Amino acid sequence: MSDPNPGRRRSGPTQLDPCPICKKASEPAYVPFCSARCADIDLGRWLTDRYAIPTAEDEDADGVEPRPDQTA
Ligand SMILES: [Zn+2]
Repeated sequence: MSDPNPGRRRSGPTQLDPCPICKKASEPAYVPFCSARCADIDLGRWLTDRYAIPTAEDEDADGVEPRPDQTA
């Protein structure tokens, strides 16, 4: 079996999704973003989110549950 279209992905029209950061039309060079700046912003958000999750969980587990042991 040989690929009829080795370099081709599934039919991709020039219509790209808008930049998820600023909603402008995305550039093929930076897809799905419109620019390197927006790609950077998204990466920053992603990393921030990633680091924020364990921190938030830690805070939550520490302060949300009051210990009933002391009342007894
Ligand atoms: Zn953008």
